[in-house]
Amino acid sequence: MLPQWIIEKKRDGQVLTKEEIHFFVEGYTREEIPDYQMAALAMAIFFRGMTFDEVTVLTDSMMRSGELVDTSSISISKVDKHSTGGIGDKVSLILAPLVACCDIAVPMISGRGLGITGGTLDKLESIPGYRTDLSSDEFLYVLKKCGCSITGQTAKLVPADRRLYALRDVTGTVPSIPLISASIMSKKLAEGIDALVLDVKWGKGAFMKTLEEARELARTMIEIGRRMNKDMSAIITDMNQPLGRTAGNAVEIVESVDTLQGRGPTDLIEVTMELASCMLILGGKARNRNEALDMLQKHIDSGAAYEKFKDMVRLHGGMVEALEDTSQLPSATIHLEYPAPESGYVAEVNAEQIGKACVVLGAGRSSVEDTVDHAAGITGIVKIGESVEKGQPLLTIHANDEDRLNEAGSLLDSAFAFSTQRLSPPPLIADTIEEKRNL
Ligand code: URA
Repeated sequence: MLPQWIIEKKRDGQVLTKEEIHFFVEGYTREEIPDYQMAALAMAIFFRGMTFDEVTVLTDSMMRSGELVDTSSISISKVDKHSTGGIGDKVSLILAPLVACCDIAVPMISGRGLGITGGTLDKLESIPGYRTDLSSDEFLYVLKKCGCSITGQTAKLVPADRRLYALRDVTGTVPSIPLISASIMSKKLAEGIDALVLDVKWGKGAFMKTLEEARELARTMIEIGRRMNKDMSAIITDMNQPLGRTAGNAVEIVESVDTLQGRGPTDLIEVTMELASCMLILGGKARNRNEALDMLQKHIDSGAAYEKFKDMVRLHGGMVEALEDTSQLPSATIHLEYPAPESGYVAEVNAEQIGKACVVLGAGRSSVEDTVDHAAGITGIVKIGESVEKGQPLLTIHANDEDRLNEAGSLLDSAFAFSTQRLSPPPLIADTIEEKRNL
């Protein structure tokens, strides 16, 4: 078998066999197949797509390109959540400890922010001392001790995706549903989970710009999981406006702590509770959504979820005092309110523009090598449907540099629209797709 035969076959729209896909991924991982041939295959997949059989084999081959986390010594259900990412998405920070309070282990291997999308690891690293580079043994130790751990991908986990993702980034082959699905699912399935809940975002600040694309991505990932014997469910959520009222790193830790203490913004609570309740159902801890929501609320009200978050932070080496007294988190030198240019009802808060402003402020990365400014970000973001008076702040910018502040300000100038009538935002949860074996 030669790599070019496989490329030609996909180029001509044919279905690849299991052997051909394994051969390609294995050869690429061993560096016997060069980047230019993998790039050609990725482009052929981009144009020709893949069947569910093909994408499942691709996921499986990529997952097996490195080591797998062995969670067999943990007897309780292991359930994770994956979000396709957005602006202000801090759900993992609240959901992992909350679900762990219900006797479900949450082994969460997360990523860093890239482009306008924020990253859970960057947010956690704004807590002084928090380690996101746990070895597999340390990850399992934390998981056994407190039921949840949020860490980064080790070099040994899914190396094929690490190389392929970087290659796709520079060859115009990122926005391909089979390639995105295999990339996400290979990493999640390598965590040793029993079930997975997906939060697939759609809208201006999301990868998927339309609801239809988001549904297709969700369906593809669910089908891969189902074929690999995992219980799956997905919700499709709005990312036209940011989630919650903050975007950045330390500022999102503050909002997460508030939410864990029962004082969070309603949209963030709703998405978190919905995903967490799906996890409880898949993990066999609740029979239905209402039962799950009751359990979860009790763990917020009793303070158990917040205590669990502190346990996880402590076990990761993080400074728990900075959660109790958030003035000890990184703080910017400049805080500037951004005023409403007119009075009216907020009709648009463009998540993409807010995300770009965060990148410019230093809270996000424009390339993988960039370091982030943990203090930079945005707070107090108004929501669609709220009424504002001219001059009233639409948000507050946190910056450490005047030039960056000005550039962010220009981006924000096109982030808002106003109306004389109150408009409703798109539904926060547009769809729910469930796929539990033996439901
Ligand atoms: N996130 C991933 O991990 N992979 C993709 O291809 C896209 C988003």
